Amino acid sequence: ISATDLVKQTLDNIKNVDSKINAFITVDEDGALKKAKQIDEKGIDSNNLLSGMPIAIKDNMVTKGLKTTAASKILENFKPIYDATAVKKLNDLGSINVGKTNMDEFAMGGSTENSAFQTTHNPWDETKVPGGSSGGSAAAVAAGEVLAALGSDTGGSIRQPASFNGVVGMKPTYGRVSRWGLIAFGSSLDQIGPITRNVFDNATVLNAIAGHDDHDLTSSDKVIPDFTSTLNKGVKGLKIGIPSEFMAQGLDDDVKQVVLDTAETFKKLGATVEEVSLPHTQYGVAAYYIISSSEASSNLQRFDGIRYGYRAKDAKSLEDVYVKSRSEGFGDEVKRRIMLGTFSLSAGFYDAYFKKAAQVRTLMINDFTKIFKDFDLILAPTAPTPAYGIGEDISDPMTMYMNDVLTLPVNLAGLPGMSIPAGFSKGLPVGVQLIGRPYDELTVYQAGSAFE
Ligand code: GLN
Repeated sequence: ISATDLVKQTLDNIKNVDSKINAFITVDEDGALKKAKQIDEKGIDSNNLLSGMPIAIKDNMVTKGLKTTAASKILENFKPIYDATAVKKLNDLGSINVGKTNMDEFAMGGSTENSAFQTTHNPWDETKVPGGSSGGSAAAVAAGEVLAALGSDTGGSIRQPASFNGVVGMKPTYGRVSRWGLIAFGSSLDQIGPITRNVFDNATVLNAIAGHDDHDLTSSDKVIPDFTSTLNKGVKGLKIGIPSEFMAQGLDDDVKQVVLDTAETFKKLGATVEEVSLPHTQYGVAAYYIISSSEASSNLQRFDGIRYGYRAKDAKSLEDVYVKSRSEGFGDEVKRRIMLGTFSLSAGFYDAYFKKAAQVRTLMINDFTKIFKDFDLILAPTAPTPAYGIGEDISDPMTMYMNDVLTLPVNLAGLPGMSIPAGFSKGLPVGVQLIGRPYDELTVYQAGSAFE
């Protein structure tokens, strides 16, 4: 099959499927066909699995000449002049970006309901949310629109939608993938990663996007292993811990059972599984929302109605341009975070909020470090429940925030974490999370593939 035929089939399929799922904000027919033609002229590189492969990109990664909105009205017609590094790396390997996927505005949310443009439906049950914030990417993969998509994860936004959609989502170690060109939310937490149908594809995409980048000084120059090299090596001898705090009250019974069943499978395959403790788990949500909102309030300063995107029409002064453009351009959740963040950083409250949150973060990092002295991996539920109904939780921010309790510790500690499909609850997929030592995505993939 030629790249052109593959892209044509993919675009046809998206036309059919996406009228119901709404995973894409933008489908780039012309760009994808043009790229396919270039690939066909050179011939598909049979040694490179990504050559000619259609993929999708979350709409908070900038794409040269292709509308990039972060699902915000403030960037409604924004066309970037360069590619994000992760996007460029995939491009250079010959993969074909067919479009930009829906998300919560500026990646703030867990259901993709905070998009300014459209509601994405879970392909398993269209009355349910796809999770978020990378809900469009996960739904596009689950619905068979593309085999791989990029997401971003600040507090769970790759892993939780992966769990809700029955697909594999990896948040790599902080620093593993360049954040250059990722529209920043919480810069000390954000990380780009692959969402795919299986572990092998996931490792293949991470191979492509990992690595140091001069444009992002937090990107690591550690050697990049071949992330597919440990697949199917089994889990014999691996020590796996289950944090008891993650299995506590609030966890759906079916989800709990799926984790326990997964633990049994790992034991049968020769791993040891024991209970471990992450004693500061209960402070995670508060610490995360203070830190991520503080960073967001700073990162979003640049959207002033002048440099990018939307500008209010009837502004009478400079101050008016700022206030009106931001009031009209940002959605409610984004404004809530900006207010929370600005407050936490303000001189009078910094010690009580931001500083405390940073201290809690250190305690949580230490908890993980202690566990990883004895254990190779942590096994945990990805989200407290399976996908819930569209409209069910969105008017209650506190409930939404509490739902992130199981994913955000991994971001606060900068660790690699992957959600992998592990069972079902009433017909909906349930994922479990595998968390590894810093820069040890290899062992995470190894265990994931053993279980798949
Ligand atoms: N749901 C979390 C939040 O709203 C995480 C979002 C993310 O990882 N981008 O902040």
